[in-house]
Amino acid sequence: MRRWTDVWLNAGIATMAWTGRPYGAIEEGAIAVADGVIVWIGPRNELPNIDGAQVHDAGGGWITPGLIDCHTHLVFAGDRCDEFERRLRGESYEEIARSGGGIRSTVAATRAASEAELYAASLKRLSTLAGTGVTTIEIKSGYGLDLKSEIKMLRVARRLSADLGVTIRTTFLGAHALPPEYEGRRNEYVELVAGPMLERVATEELADAVDVFAETIAFTPGETAQVFEAAHRVGLPVKLHADQLSDQGGAALAARYGALSADHLEHANEAGVMAMADSGTVATLLPAASYFLREAQLPPVDLLRRHGVPIAIATDCNPGSSPALSMPLMLNMACTIFRLTPEEALAGVTRNAALALGLSDRGTLEVGKFADLAIWDVRRPAELAYWMGNLPLCGVVKAGVARETAA
Ligand SMILES: [Zn+2]
Repeated sequence: MRRWTDVWLNAGIATMAWTGRPYGAIEEGAIAVADGVIVWIGPRNELPNIDGAQVHDAGGGWITPGLIDCHTHLVFAGDRCDEFERRLRGESYEEIARSGGGIRSTVAATRAASEAELYAASLKRLSTLAGTGVTTIEIKSGYGLDLKSEIKMLRVARRLSADLGVTIRTTFLGAHALPPEYEGRRNEYVELVAGPMLERVATEELADAVDVFAETIAFTPGETAQVFEAAHRVGLPVKLHADQLSDQGGAALAARYGALSADHLEHANEAGVMAMADSGTVATLLPAASYFLREAQLPPVDLLRRHGVPIAIATDCNPGSSPALSMPLMLNMACTIFRLTPEEALAGVTRNAALALGLSDRGTLEVGKFADLAIWDVRRPAELAYWMGNLPLCGVVKAGVARETAA
């Protein structure tokens, strides 16, 4: 047997594994780690001899899997605080868009930023978000919308993983919006995304997946399919911004291409949800975007439950519709706005978020999985979704190594 290097004791453990118990909980648990991986987990009183291992006291709280934020647009330049202020003074979205606001302002700022500037701005946000118990995060491109700037965004996202003890998965979202210079030439832009851009991204191994924003204001189902087929040709899985503002048949389209996840889904229909269940596509719900946009239409949580579609929860961190940098706050919003149970919400940022990224090596605490842990000063797991603006985090462990935290 491999020598155990570290053991965590004195905590309840919400393993989030399918054990038949709520939260997969072990009330008085212990976790033993070797080479960054969990080698033993169970009730403390069954723990074998731990001679030679370093023992860590978890302080009597609860340990969960390190949280996974599976949908962000965290790399961008500038912000849209001015728009936020203008809207609250009564200006309409159309007025703001006509004066160069909206996504176009973020595209202009991101194109103009140097790689170093983009890195510095993104690092600040990432360290805040990571400091809320996050050990894995997905980051999309999609504010460059030309070859050079999309590559710049993905390079920055890849580099961000180096220092903070966070795994970063990158997603190419060239089909996020039609760039202004392609107005009236949609086909040419879609061909650029599905052709030279995607080839370059694949050759340089800059992305782990490909995403499209399918919507009346973005790309049609036909254009989405064109990008998805190109993604499959270069061997990349797909994801979809689906049915956020209207029913575009996005859920069924995502399922047809075996998408890892279909995200947003406010207007998804039942046939689409059933297709997602069949294809194993995760539903990623984004409560902070609903909150920030005061969206009345909620995603079809009951349909997702009824058909057994796994539900993930993410920040959607972006400057326009979700400037969110706290995962515990997402747990609260998933419960208060979408009416998930605290257990469903926690599964949404652990087990199901890992599925949404195609990662089978994390998301639950089980033998053989990475020892990515978040340690919380709470009396029971539901408390993680209860507080608003409280961060009862007292430690983060990434692949068996304790990470510095601000908490
Ligand atoms: Zn998004």
